[in-house]
Amino acid sequence: MSTSLMPNYARLPVCFVKGEGAWLWDTQGKRYLDAMSGVAVCGLGHAHPALTAAICDQAGKLIHTSNWFEIAHQQTLADVLTRVTGMESVFFSNSGAEANEAAIKIARLYGHRHNIDVPTVVVMEGSFHGRTLATLTASGNKKIQAGFEPLVQGFLRAPYNDVAAIEALAIRHPEICAILVEPIIGEGGVKIPDADYLPRLRALCDKHNWLLMLDEIQTGIGRTGTWLACQQTNVLPDVVTLAKGLGGGVPIGACLACGTVATILQPGTHGSTFGGNPLACRVGLTVLNTIEQDNLLARVQELGQRFQRGFTEVLQGVAAVTAVRVKGLMIGIELKYPCQELMRQALAEGVVLNVTAEKVVRLLPPFILSDAQADEIIAITSRVIQQFSHLKERE
Ligand SMILES: *Cc1c(COP(=O)(O)O)cnc(C)c1O
Repeated sequence: MSTSLMPNYARLPVCFVKGEGAWLWDTQGKRYLDAMSGVAVCGLGHAHPALTAAICDQAGKLIHTSNWFEIAHQQTLADVLTRVTGMESVFFSNSGAEANEAAIKIARLYGHRHNIDVPTVVVMEGSFHGRTLATLTASGNKKIQAGFEPLVQGFLRAPYNDVAAIEALAIRHPEICAILVEPIIGEGGVKIPDADYLPRLRALCDKHNWLLMLDEIQTGIGRTGTWLACQQTNVLPDVVTLAKGLGGGVPIGACLACGTVATILQPGTHGSTFGGNPLACRVGLTVLNTIEQDNLLARVQELGQRFQRGFTEVLQGVAAVTAVRVKGLMIGIELKYPCQELMRQALAEGVVLNVTAEKVVRLLPPFILSDAQADEIIAITSRVIQQFSHLKERE
């Protein structure tokens, strides 16, 4: 369409102009079911009345002041976030990458406090933590690092879901001060680790005095059926990062901390002009209140089971499908073949979904989906995958 944009996105030739709940409409008036939620952002769907009202009301009062002053909505949002997560303090940013930058800075302060000269964070293969220099260095994906060297110092990499590998690193690297890990790998293909992975990482961190830092930017704010994915394993991290679903589409990120690092960021150590402004925080509060009032965490679990049952049944015996992975409304269907084209084919059939890690069809539908809408997404997605499978298996 436009030639004045930097060409850093491979865009599909569809432009949405309107949304309502799980529905989206394009410029041609064609209607789609949204099973992507703007990549795990619009958990409440589109044009949610409570969100629209909060944005309009707040915009009419005060959009932005400055962190030089007290911001009531920021304080309240921090209170609610710490209550639902069990964490103690919050720093607000505008994006996920910035939330992770704050986490990495906390790890470095913590390391230096323990007289480690080159504080080092263990990160995982296949992970995604953002596109800033530090967070792309932390990410376990060569493609997003290529061309941006020199990368940032102070990271060591281990395979995902492999505690022994980190134990082995610990022997040779006294400079380790933290682990940064996704509870479920998102961009890397919806990979769900063993049930004891996080508890064992927690124990390892306790043993070595490392910080356990969880990137819940994709998994957090109800996406997996609990406020944080780690709550399903009873693990309390030292640091946790949020963004995506927190603002329902209005940019906001957060870095939460507890214990010894809850107060490690002192005046002058970190900051943000926009982070935690009145509009963003009012919206974040409305998202959290709506999830609570409408009992959406339970609904996400219920819908997750519906997708699990539906896809397992329909895709059973489809030759190209190697795995169906579901945790709440984080759904990955892994195929034998690269399948980027399925995004376009699903669009043609009226479903917005996403393909990640080349071979994984990923669905991140909004929490407000009806049963009928869920069933329609299952039917259309399965049909498109079946057709793809027939074609590929014949080749
Ligand atoms: C999306 C994502 C990020 C980056 O968030 P941005 O808001 O795009 O900077 C970081 N970590 C995870 C796990 C993500 O899914």
